[in-house]
Parts: sequence; C-alpha cells; structure tokens
Amino acid sequence: MLTCDEYHMPTTLAEALALLQAVPHGSRLVAGATDILPWAREGRAGDVNLPAMIDLSRIEELQGYEVAGGRVRLGANVVYQQFLTDKALRRHLPGMPYCSIWFADDQIREQATLAGNLVNASPAADGTPPMLAHNAELEIARLEGSDIKRRTISLADFVKGPGKTDLGPHEIVTAVICDSLDGYGGSFQKVGQRRSLVISSVCAAACIKMDKTGEVVEDIRLALGGVGPVPMRLDDIEKMLRGKQLTAELIARASAKPAERVASRTRRQYRRTVVKGFIEAAIHEALEDCGARVPGSAEREDAHV
Ligand SMILES: Cc1cc2nc3c(=O)[nH]c(=O)nc-3n(C[C@H](O)[C@H](O)[C@H](O)COP(=O)(O)OP(=O)(O)OC[C@H]3O[C@@H](n4cnc5c(N)ncnc54)[C@H](O)[C@@H]3O)c2cc1C
Repeated sequence: MLTCDEYHMPTTLAEALALLQAVPHGSRLVAGATDILPWAREGRAGDVNLPAMIDLSRIEELQGYEVAGGRVRLGANVVYQQFLTDKALRRHLPGMPYCSIWFADDQIREQATLAGNLVNASPAADGTPPMLAHNAELEIARLEGSDIKRRTISLADFVKGPGKTDLGPHEIVTAVICDSLDGYGGSFQKVGQRRSLVISSVCAAACIKMDKTGEVVEDIRLALGGVGPVPMRLDDIEKMLRGKQLTAELIARASAKPAERVASRTRRQYRRTVVKGFIEAAIHEALEDCGARVPGSAEREDAHV
C-alpha cells in the first residue's frame, strides 16, 4: 500500500518547484499516478510510506498544447486519451493514435500522462519510440532563487537506462516538445503477454511521408522499444529507405537488419523474430495511413484507428 505523510496539490509551477525544494528526501512528484500506485500496491516496492507527494495535476501551466514553427509543445499533463480524441493532435502526431489505442484502457488513458511515461523510463514504455520518431525534447524547470530556469534535453539523452533519467532531484518536466509530422502516415506495433492492458515486450513506431508522386519516400522515422535497456531510433534503416522507391522486397530487407540489435536478457530469439515482422508491418501500415501502397503488398485490415 502507498501512504504519505503530506499530500500537496500546488496550482502553479512556481509553487510546485518551491515545494520540491522544501519537502524531505524521498518525496515524490505524481501526475496521473498510474505508475506510482501499482509500484507500491503490487508489492514491487513493498508497502511504501513517502514523506510527501506533490501532485502536479492541478497546475494550469502544464495543461494543453501549442503548435508553432513545425513543433508541437505538449504540456506535461497531456494524457494519452488526448492523442486519440483530439483531431489536431492526431494530425500533427500521426503515430500517437496507434500507440494510444493499445495503451492500457479508457480509464488509465484519461489519467496517464505522456511525461510520466517518459520519466518512468521503462525500456518498454509505449510513448518513447513514437516520441523518438518525432525528435522529442523534454523541457525541464527548476528554481534558482525565486526565478524559474528552464533547460531542454533530447529524449534520446534524457533516458539513461531502465528507470534512470537525466532529471535532477529538484526538477519538474514542464513539456514534451516534438516535430509536427502533419502529412505523414503513422503506425505503432506492440506485443506483450496478452493483447489488452498489456505492457509491451516489444514495440515499434513508424512515421512516413511520400513525395508528390506518392512513390518515393520523402521522409521516414523508425524507432523500437523493449529490445534493450533504452528504446532506440533506427537512423541507418531510415537512411536505407529515404529517397527510395519502395518495393516489398526492399522493405523486408531493411526490416531484417534491426534484429541484430536485440540486447534483452530474456526471450532474445523471440524478440528478434518479432522485431523484423514489426518493422515491416509498421512501414506497410504507415504507408496505408498516408494513402500510399507498395506494389505487391496485401491490404491490411487493422491499419486504421
Ligand atoms: C492498468 C495499467 C495499464 C498500463 N498500460 C500501459 C501501456 O499500455 N503502456 C505503457 O507504456 N504504460 C502503461 N502503464 C504504465 C503507466 O500508465 C504509464 O507509464 C503512464 O504514462 C505514467 O504516467 P502517470 O501520469 O500516471 O505517471 P505517475 O505515475 O504519476 O508518475 C510516473 C513517474 O513520473 C514522475 N513524473 C510524473 N510527471 C512528472 C513531471 N511532470 N515531471 C517530473 N516527474 C514526473 C513521477 O514522479 C513518477 O516517478 C499502465 C499502467 C497501468 C496501471
């Protein structure tokens, strides 16, 4: 069971940062609590009593999103359900609806923040591969005297290992800032021990844009999770495909390459097989999502959310 001596609900970022400096060591920030509660309740950490919890969910500055200059600034309290229901977010972040539909269930999606998912830094966090594909950065705030100082760090540098990030003890993630991929098709593939309410064993994200002819790849972004200590972007496979006229054979050849990178300690051979199939399926699905088709590929039934 999770208990705490003090539960704070600040309404401004400045108040939250000041509290974070004042509370005893071992206190925790909380947003949707969908990671923190099971962590204590399921006995992973045993019964936990925290000196203080600082709930970020009432802070106006962390809500909502803005799109400007080809980038999307997602406030840290944006939850997964918004990636499914908000039309503009679906357009700008084409991989996220596919990621969200397989993420937990409606209730959890209404609570679970993208920022909390990234800070939790699970090797199989579903949000990390699509956000790597979107060149995401985290905006992080801390107090210096009475001034709020901010820094940004790329998601790739932020996640250091399972459960480890670059976040300092007195810092709060205020936003996730990423590329708008308006005009791209998206896809997300995921497998775990079961189909629903499942934590991924392996997941893959793809975003793709074709040129005006609809036959040549203008841009492609690919990323994998669950195959090593940290999720990874597949830059070399992207390079193989960017500017190319796609064939089913070329996609299959490129998709086979990342299997060598599977470094998980368990079920390594299984994951290698899954990875090849997932990259291939993600590319085909993302192509269908942007209205393109590869000659010789069969129509897929599960491509649309
Ligand atoms: C039933 C169930 C199903 C789930 N399914 C999935 C799934 O399909 N895929 C998946 O990836 N995960 C899944 N999860 C895990 C969880 O829902 C996600 O990781 C979620 O996105 C965490 O967000 P949260 O807001 O609930 O984080 P919290 O639990 O509130 O916090 C998580 C961590 O992030 C820190 N934190 C939160 N916000 C901030 C911030 N702004 N700045 C600094 N630190 C912060 C907290 O201190 C804590 O360490 C599931 C959980 C449950 C209970």
